[in-house]
Amino acid sequence: MSVRAIARAVGDRLRDADRRNLNATLHWSQELLDQEADRIDAGPLDGRLAGIPIALKDNIVTVEQPTTCGSRILEGYRSPYNATVVDRLRASGALNAAKTNMDEFAMGSSTEHSAFGRVLHPTDPTRVPGGSSGGSAVLVAAGVVPAALGSETGGSVRQPAAFCGVVGLKASYGRVSRYGLVAFGSSLDCVSVFGRTVSDAGAVLEVISGYDSRDVSTHDRAPLTPLDPLADLRGLTFGLPREYFPPDLHAGVRAGLDRTIAAVRALGGKVVEVSLPHSHHAVATYYVLAPAEAAANLARYDGVRFGVRREGGAHDLTHLYRATRGEGFGPEVRRRILLGTYVLSAGYYEAYYTKAQQVRGLIARDFQAAFATGIDLLLTPTTPTPAFVAGEKVDDPVGMYLADVFVCPASLAGLPALSLPVGESEGLPIGAQLIAPNWEEAPMLAAAAALEATLGPAREVR
Ligand code: GLN
Repeated sequence: MSVRAIARAVGDRLRDADRRNLNATLHWSQELLDQEADRIDAGPLDGRLAGIPIALKDNIVTVEQPTTCGSRILEGYRSPYNATVVDRLRASGALNAAKTNMDEFAMGSSTEHSAFGRVLHPTDPTRVPGGSSGGSAVLVAAGVVPAALGSETGGSVRQPAAFCGVVGLKASYGRVSRYGLVAFGSSLDCVSVFGRTVSDAGAVLEVISGYDSRDVSTHDRAPLTPLDPLADLRGLTFGLPREYFPPDLHAGVRAGLDRTIAAVRALGGKVVEVSLPHSHHAVATYYVLAPAEAAANLARYDGVRFGVRREGGAHDLTHLYRATRGEGFGPEVRRRILLGTYVLSAGYYEAYYTKAQQVRGLIARDFQAAFATGIDLLLTPTTPTPAFVAGEKVDDPVGMYLADVFVCPASLAGLPALSLPVGESEGLPIGAQLIAPNWEEAPMLAAAAALEATLGPAREVR
């Protein structure tokens, strides 16, 4: 079929999602879809993702559409260039389907902190889809697109993937270029992938990954090759970190993990208990470091260079900054800037920022120690509960932050990790997380594909 026909079909599904008020997209138009499709149809259709529609989180800059990061401060902003991942998708023939709704500047775990309204969970509209890449997760879960890009600073793809019942894949820090990903916490930020299946997510990662001279943190080490799924898991050892299976773990999550552990064993894999004693400090560590980096990165939104400008009465810089930032940023972003500025300020820097850096090192060392004992992969729940009810945590920041307990340790350690749908609890999806040593995405994907074949693929929730 022609890419033009695909663009029409995607447009129908996007309109359907709009009718259901899922609020998953911020910018899309049939006109742009058709135009993009015609460009692809006119070229040689030999790219790896030729004609495949892919949605992009709205913190990934594109020339064709605005990029707002879910924030008023960037309302209407248009980037003069494409992110490296966007150029790579284009070169592989992919169709840019839509820009997706997100928590403002990717700060949040429910996509309720978007300045453009919350995103609805695709099966239960009273629940959240997770966040901050909620819009991308929902478009994949609702069958609108087979894959989408999100971003992770501390779990923002794996967590919504678990809540929505799709695959969420974060690569090693440095595997994918951050050029054109609007900066949040630069030492943590990773463009990451949602797919309906492990092989879809892996195929997209393969296309977007690799060295980029515009991002000094990227490497060309161990390039990814097409997925080679394992027929069984013989010879592989899965570590279950005891800290990730507390006695009060949600019963539905526990059941999903039990099912996954049974599948590992049935496929011939070995399961052993391990310990990651410092993971317990990951949320506290993350919420010092990520806000510190955010406070620095978000200083650029000053009313002069990007997006919104408010004069604030008097004609001086102080009023301009105050009015622009006061009106432009939502409450969670303001909270992060305050937190970050505080932990970086004289007198508190050593006590908070330096200490958090040290604990980050301990968390990373726990993982190295576990892998050094012959563990191939770690297996944990992705989230402590299934998708929670909208409104439940918006006014409880610490409660919201705790939604990331199981995902942010791998972010701090820079490790590749993925979330795989492994069942349901009362109609809501449950995700299991695999964490691999650095640069070991290929074996992680191969093992995940074997588990997926046994546990069954994600269910389409239309
Ligand atoms: N939920 C975490 C936060 O609010 C992680 C966000 C992310 O990964 N972008 O910071």
